[in-house]
Amino acid sequence: MNNDNYSIAIDGPSASGKSTIAKEVAKKLNIEYIDTGAMYRALTYKVLKNKIDVKDTQGVIEILKNTNIDFINNSIYLDGVIVDKEIRQNIVSKNVSYIARIKEVREILVHLQQSMAKTKNVIMDGRDIGTVVLPDANYKFYVTASVDERARRRYKELLDRGEKNISLEDIVADIVKRDEIDSNREIGPLIQAEDAHVLDTTNRTIDESVDFIISIVTGGS
Ligand code: C5P
Repeated sequence: MNNDNYSIAIDGPSASGKSTIAKEVAKKLNIEYIDTGAMYRALTYKVLKNKIDVKDTQGVIEILKNTNIDFINNSIYLDGVIVDKEIRQNIVSKNVSYIARIKEVREILVHLQQSMAKTKNVIMDGRDIGTVVLPDANYKFYVTASVDERARRRYKELLDRGEKNISLEDIVADIVKRDEIDSNREIGPLIQAEDAHVLDTTNRTIDESVDFIISIVTGGS
């Protein structure tokens, strides 16, 4: 690793552990963490709040044109207000993939993500980071885990957050549905970049996963 700006791209399906791992890597390497999923979630939250149908493409685009999304001190700001908690609600998770498959939404958010990575060392996570947003990233990782394990993690996370009326079966179904939409959309689908290192977190602890990434980044491979 040299002293020039460098970027780390982390892609993978939902609840694979990528954000938890990326956040920790960012801390250890003292670089900026950018959670692109949070950006799609923030827009989804605003669309739902404004009672626009997530499948109403024009309505969603209009909302996005009048929306400001930014990260300050690891918090996400939607039109100047912190929405870290709101965007993690189950209702947002259920709807976000419909918003994220809209071409214009992806163009605008990808552009924003690219400009965020221009002047800083970053670790950015999402679905299309190594393939579309930062195809020249210095290091690319594809983080995955079994559907059952991912559903268990999401279920626990929602319970811990006090979310009610959820069942593990529903979460499994939501995850499968989201994987399907994310993997099959036309633009920026979830695929493993050819040059990505694969990290399966099903049987790994967070620390082990973090070490895996740090050893590759600091080892210069
Ligand atoms: O990473 P997270 O699960 O929070 O992402 C929420 C959703 O945002 C994903 O299911 C996907 O539909 C969308 N997303 C995307 N491209 C990204 C990041 C997230 O389409 N780079």
